[in-house]
Order: sequence, then structure tokens, then C-alpha cells
Amino acid sequence: LTLQWYGNKDVRVVEAPVPAITEPTDVICKVTGTTVCGSDLHLYHKEIMQLQAGDILGHEWMGIVDEVGSEIKNVKKGDRVVASFQIACGSCKFCKEGLSSMCDKTNSSSVQEKLYGKPFAGLFGYTHFAGGFAGGQAEYVRCPFGDTNLLKIPDHVPDEKALFLSDIIPTSYHATVCADVEKGKSVAIWGAGPIGLYAAKWSKLAGASRVIVIDRVKERLDLARDTIGCDVINFDEESDVVKAIYKLEPDGVDCGIDAAAFRYTKGLLHGIQRAVGLETDSAEIVNEALQAVRKFGTIALVADYAAMTNQFLIGALMEKGITLRGTGQAPVQKYWKDLLKKVESGEFDPTIILSHRFKIDEFRELYEAFDKKEAGIMKVFVETRF
Ligand code: NAD
Ligand code: ZN
Repeated sequence: LTLQWYGNKDVRVVEAPVPAITEPTDVICKVTGTTVCGSDLHLYHKEIMQLQAGDILGHEWMGIVDEVGSEIKNVKKGDRVVASFQIACGSCKFCKEGLSSMCDKTNSSSVQEKLYGKPFAGLFGYTHFAGGFAGGQAEYVRCPFGDTNLLKIPDHVPDEKALFLSDIIPTSYHATVCADVEKGKSVAIWGAGPIGLYAAKWSKLAGASRVIVIDRVKERLDLARDTIGCDVINFDEESDVVKAIYKLEPDGVDCGIDAAAFRYTKGLLHGIQRAVGLETDSAEIVNEALQAVRKFGTIALVADYAAMTNQFLIGALMEKGITLRGTGQAPVQKYWKDLLKKVESGEFDPTIILSHRFKIDEFRELYEAFDKKEAGIMKVFVETRF
């Protein structure tokens, strides 16, 4: 079974042949767990131009190695593995520098070339915008460059704790690194989704003096406050988020992280679809961060922005000496071994955001519910075993 896209809000669970090895560096995996991510909704809504009917979606998955190509050294049949959401070759200039998400060999998207000068790495299940690779919302996946893109998981780490090493655990950690989060610093995070909440937890573990989380969804803010120990601001209730931050931190926060959904900031929708027409995005959240961050503070943008923006408060950036950093798609491979250890030790519990379990044949209903944000769906674990 696979989850395939056919049109706007039309995804179907479809029988498909088990993929075959096509390169000696390929690994075929039998998937044991996958999930759906906020960014899959942009595909669901047909906001990406490069979608083709029959595309298999899904960029976060784990499984058991079923077959390996002749050049594979690091994994063997039967190993439990998690896959990184990005597909890196492991041997180009960027891969060698540890910047796997910037791999130069696995994506030749002409849209990205036009927008960014050079494309970033290919992604599982993200259409021809990102290399055209079949995704992991399926029972079997072909993993290119398996020695680079699969991490072995020890038997005592259950699937629920390993799956999110594919993306959101390293991504949220990378966001805190890019925002210069350190012991004793204060941090403000826009967005209490999986990325924002995990970034809040990593900030706490790093010894941040205060972590402020901004959102409008009550259950998410409750989790940030009660489970992670953050201060929270509900932007539906506080008309001025910046003032609310200064009330808590009179000098401004040392670090800011934009982990909000691009749906609200219009990033990907307007960015990719209208790239050629130079349509612009809103800089609202970035401007709040520029105002709320202390002089010579740092801001990391981990939320996906795709193209142009206007009304960007460049004056605050310059006059306050702020460092504004894009995280890129996070280089998962740079972090995942170390972060697996923190999961193993119990220091970081990925299941704090796990809200639901589904089975692969319920994927269509899952997309519908996830799209409507029904019943407080935060992050789900989708089983592919019967
Ligand atoms: P999500 O949609 O679950 O959560 C985003 C949250 O932002 C929501 O709870 C929403 O209410 C909140 N929000 C919206 N507008 C806001 C505003 N003005 N101020 C404060 N909060 C606001 O998303 P997620 O899965 O946590 O992902 C967060 C972002 O990170 C997305 O843009 C996603 O595409 C991006 N992402 C980036 C990478 C990477 O490698 N760079 C990887 C994964 C996800
Ligand atoms: Zn590479």
C-alpha cells in the first residue's frame, strides 16, 4: 500500500509494486512507521506546481532493511533504521562539509535554481520541486544513498521514539543552534507546533534562563507551559506580542526562533506558486522578532519561507546589530547520532507531542482530520504493520 496524491484534497491509499533497487547505493526498506507533517498539507492543497498524479507522499519514515545494493556497507537486511527526510549523496562538497541538506547531487529543480541560484538536496515525497523521490507514506521505500541517509536504531528504542529523528528532532535542535541558544540566555519562539515545542525543550535542556512560546492554540500553549516549563503568549489575547515579550524580558530576548506555519505567513503558497511573478510574502513574524530581540541578538528562521517578502523591517536588523539566520532544511545527518543518544538516555522524550495513532489504510481520513486540525491533532504515528 502507498499514499498517492491525485488532486486538490484527493489522496488515496493505493496498491503499488514494491520498489526495486536501481543503483548499487540503494536500500529497500519495509516501513514500520511514518507520519504526516504540516508541510504535506501544501501538497494536499495542490500548492506546489510540480505535483503529478500518483506521486507517493511522505518525508518522515522508518523501517526495516529488506534488501541492499552491492555497494552498501553500513546497513544490512533486518536492521531497524530511520531515514533522514532529505536525500544526500554523502560525497559531494557540501555533504563532506556536513551540510547534507545542501547536497549538490540529488536535486536539479529548475524552480529552485531560478529562485535560489542553486537547489538544495532532494527530499522524500516532496514532488519534483525536491528531486522527484517517492515518499515514505508507504509499505516499502527505495532509499537512495542508503549508507548516508539511514541511521541504525538500537532494539531498546521503540519506533515512537525513533521516527522523529528523521526530521523534527534534528530540525528543532538545529534551530536552537542557529539562534545561538545557550545557558543563561532568554529565548522567544513563534509557533507551538512540533518544531516550536521541540525547540523550546532543547532550549530548556541547554539551560536557557527563560523560554517564551507564542501561539494562538490553547492546547499547544498549555503543553509548552505545563510540560516544558515555558512562559506563553496567546497572540489572540495579547494585541501586542512585542510589548508582552518586553514585559517578561525588559532588555528583549537574546534569541528568537520563527517556527510558525507558513500557511499563516503565506510563505510557501505565495512563494512557490507565484515565484515567477515575484509575488511577495508577509514579514509579520520576522518583524515582531526583530523588535523583540535584544540589541545584537540572534534570530533563526526555521519556518519555511520560499520566495520574496516586502515590508521587512530592515532598519531594526541594521540599527540593532541583529544576526538573522536561515536554517535551511536542517542537515539531519550532522546531528542525528548525538540526538539519538539523548533520546536513549531519556533526556529528550519525543513522545511529548505524540497525540494520535493511525494505520496506513486510514491515511485518507488522517489527511482530512489533520487538515481540519480536528481533535487537537499534533503529531501522529502511522503504523504500516498489520
Ligand atoms: P505547525 O503548523 O504544526 O505549527 C505552527 C504553529 O504556528 C501553529 O500552532 C500556529 O498556530 C502557529 N502560528 C501561526 N501564526 C503565528 C503567529 N503569527 N505567531 C505565532 N505563532 C503562529 O508546524 P510545524 O510542523 O511545527 O512546523 C513549523 C514550521 O517549520 C513550518 O513552517 C514547517 O514547514 C517548518 N519546517 C522546517 C524544516 C526545516 O528543515 N527548515 C523542517 C520541518 C518543518
Ligand atoms: Zn551530496
